[in-house]
Parts: sequence; structure tokens; C-alpha cells
Amino acid sequence: MTEQLVLGGKRADAVSGETFEVVEPSTGRPMATVAQAGQEDAKRAVGIASEAFADGDWRRTTARERGHVLLRAAELIRERSEDLARLEARNGGKPITAARGEISLVANVFEYWGGAPTKILGETVPIAQPGIDLTLREPVGVCALITPWNFPAVIASWKVAPALACGNTAVLKPASQTPLTALEIAGVLMEAGLPEGTLSVLPGPGATVATALISDPRVSKISFTGSTEVGRQVMQTAAQHIARVSLELGGKSANVVFADADLDRAASSAPLAVFGNAGQDCCARSRILVERSALDRFMQALDDAVKALKVGDPLDDKTEMGPLISADQREKVASYVPDDAPVAIRGEAPDGPGYWFPPTVLSPVSNDDRAAREEIFGPVASVIPFADEAEAVRLANDTIYGLSGSIWTRDGAKALRVARAVETGVLSINSNTSVRVATPFGGFKQSGYGRELGPHALDAYTEVKSIYYATS
Ligand code: NAD
Repeated sequence: MTEQLVLGGKRADAVSGETFEVVEPSTGRPMATVAQAGQEDAKRAVGIASEAFADGDWRRTTARERGHVLLRAAELIRERSEDLARLEARNGGKPITAARGEISLVANVFEYWGGAPTKILGETVPIAQPGIDLTLREPVGVCALITPWNFPAVIASWKVAPALACGNTAVLKPASQTPLTALEIAGVLMEAGLPEGTLSVLPGPGATVATALISDPRVSKISFTGSTEVGRQVMQTAAQHIARVSLELGGKSANVVFADADLDRAASSAPLAVFGNAGQDCCARSRILVERSALDRFMQALDDAVKALKVGDPLDDKTEMGPLISADQREKVASYVPDDAPVAIRGEAPDGPGYWFPPTVLSPVSNDDRAAREEIFGPVASVIPFADEAEAVRLANDTIYGLSGSIWTRDGAKALRVARAVETGVLSINSNTSVRVATPFGGFKQSGYGRELGPHALDAYTEVKSIYYATS
């Protein structure tokens, strides 16, 4: 399989003519050769996007027509969902059932934003002067959209769909490890009627391509999902030309299990809340906080659930966990499980080839331990006992992150008290889900700022203009 860049909707080689190999994590073998964008390609893509924005072919189409393009894209994604899911499963090392769910989510996100352009409303504002003041939401301009390798198609859709719905033009920089579905989705959008110039996709190394994009003063908006470390650099670079920035960064979320919870449900759902996507999930509930009086019962149920987890070939319908994305990632994850680590539960994992690591539960862990403080981004969970509600809240908040989390209890008032006290952007009660197409997603503290999904994402892709019309 060979892939070119997408420049303003057209396929093109990189200016340098360079290519790189994309590897299939379950085998460690190359699965595609992809054109490698560099600084010159970033400049070209931003030039095309800013000319297209100035020409206005996209932002001046009617809201209804813009919506139709996105709705048509959603339809095409559904028609091709099995091919896209297989591509995502192979490239990301994801279980095929999970990849099918992700592609279905991508179609739903385009459908949601397909309905949005006709509902982007302004306001009339009561003012003291004689006249009327009204507000308009206008597109920001050229958007640089930078995505990680863990949910390549999903996170691309969270950025591309609202950016386009609001009338912007965009350049998407997918992670080098997983560019394949993003390139396919750009093709789908062109087929759905997106005007030329509106969208480019530039696979290539972040340090050169993404840096060239975000330091270009013609870029008005940067939406970045990735590590907190790189997010910090993105903010610094964006500051040079005051580009608008939204950041979705790392996490170290708490799964708080009280003794009065349905412990079987909490324990049977806990493994996939950490080991789903092999733990490479910013929402992973990798700190499992358990009320001490229920610890033994919970650990027994958790042991059964972790050992039942099916780890193996991503393309097998029964697989629940695949390999890690790369050898480097496996090495990093292994560093959190030294020989003297308190391993309480270890699941299965194939020997190789591929980048496998067994689902691992450390217990008991102190919230001060490295495994409990740092984002591991692999299938390693820490069980941290607590004495009472106050300690549960203190431990849940004792982290630099604040992205996701869960609370398990049968006491509704306690659930809401704890939910209000936990400093995190997305929380579920008696469930471990984090993502819903129509509700805001994003972090507190060093997990970033700005919200994706739902109507809140409008703030990321529009500027508000106030117009005063004098009537005197
Ligand atoms: P990463 O920060 O290494 O890379 C993310 C993207 O940034 C990639 O496209 C990469 O090429 C690019 N990049 C690399 N160096 C850059 C630089 N100097 N300037 C600009 N861009 C650069 O992250 P990753 O390893 O791909 O993904 C894992 C991280 O992403 C984890 O920390 C995870 O928590 C986070 N993440 C967050 C969310 C969320 O919504 N909060 C979702 C998924 C992943």
C-alpha cells in the first residue's frame, strides 16, 4: 500500500520526494509506504488553506450546503465502515470490534456536525445606546489540527468536522505511526463535495511538520491532542502570533469504587476502562481507588475479569486487547513494572512478533508512587485503597491531570457530592464511559483546555463579532 499527501484535496508527493514506512504493531512489519511531509509541504498547505479561506468558496456556501457535505461524508463513512475499521485495526493494533465502534463514532460525529451549520446562531444584546447590537459567530480562518496515534480516525473527526462545519479551512497533521484512516477520510470529504483547497492532510514528523504549521502566522487556530509535554511547546510557539489554541492532553484518571457499589459490575468493567486500546487511552482509569473495607472482594472479582480478557490478533472478533503501538512504547510501559513491583494480577499476552504487554494490576499502590503519578499509556493499573469519602476525593484530585474518571456507589447523594468535588472534565457514575457525541469533552488542570464535541466545540472554531447598528 502506498499513500501520498493530501494537498487542498488533491493527492501529491512530498516536495522532498521522501517517504516513510508505517508499521503494523501486531506483527512489527511494514504495512504501507507514505509520503513524508516536511516544512515546505506545511508552507504549501497553509498557503492553499489561506487562499481558499480568502476566496470563501467554503465559508460563503450556505449553511445548509455545508451541512449536506458533512452529512454525505457520514453516509460514505458508514458505507465503507468495514474497510475503514480493518485499516484502523491493523494500523493501530486495535481489536476489530473496537475499531468498528470507533468508525461508527466517526460517522456519528460527521452527522452531528452536518446538522450544526444551520443552528449556529447569533444574539441580539440589550444596550444603553440608541440602536441594536447583534453578535455573529464567524469562522476563525486556517486551522492546524494535530492528532495522536491512539484514536487516529476518531480524534481527526472531532477536529475536522466542527472546523469545517463552522466554515474554516484546515490542515490536519496525523501522528506518523497512524496516518492511514485520516488520509481515507480526506478522500471521503472530497467525494462528498468539499471544495478544493479546504482540507490538507500532512503525515510526517511532528517536530518538523507540526512545528512549521503552528509557527506560521497565517494559521489562526491550533487544535492539538497529544502529550502534556508537547502541548506545552505548542502553546509557546502559538504565543508568537497569538494563535488560538485548544489542547487535549494526558490523563491519570481515578476510578473510585465505594464499598456500597455493585462490586461485580465495577470490577468486571474496570479492566477495559484501563486495558481498552491496550491502555493507550487518555481517559484510561489507571488509578483504581477502592474503599479498604471492600478491597478483598473487589480484588477477587477483578482477578477473574482480568484473567478472562482476551489478548491477541486485532483482526479476531473475540479479541479485547491488542498490542502496544511500538517497541519504544512497550519499553516505556515495562519501566513501570520493575522486578520488585507489587504485581497482584497479570493477564495473558502473546510472545511475539509484535509489541505485546500483558494486562497488569499493581496492588496496593501509594498515590505517591511513580506508577500512580505518571501517565503510563499502557495496560498497567494501580489499585490504591482509601478509608472514607474525604480521602477518596483527596486522592482522586492529587494529580496534575484532570481529564476523566468514574464513581461507583449505590448512594446517589454521595455520588453527586464526589462528582462535584473531583476536578476533572468528564466523569461517569456507575459507568466507565467518557465520550458522547453531543456532550463536551476536555480536561481540567494539565489535561488541557477547550472542549471538543457537542455545542461547546463551537467556541473553538468560531470568533464572536459584535455589530452595533445605530438607529438615531
Ligand atoms: P505526542 O504529543 O507525542 O504527539 C501528538 C501529535 O503531536 C503527533 O501528531 C506528533 O507528530 C505531534 N508532535 C510531536 N512533536 C511535536 C512538536 N514538537 N510540536 C508539535 N507537534 C508535535 O503524543 P502521542 O504519543 O501521539 O499520543 C499520546 C498522548 O496523547 C498521551 O499523552 C495521551 O494522553 C494524549 N491524548 C490525549 C487525548 C485527549 O483527548 N485528552 C486523546 C488522545 C491522546
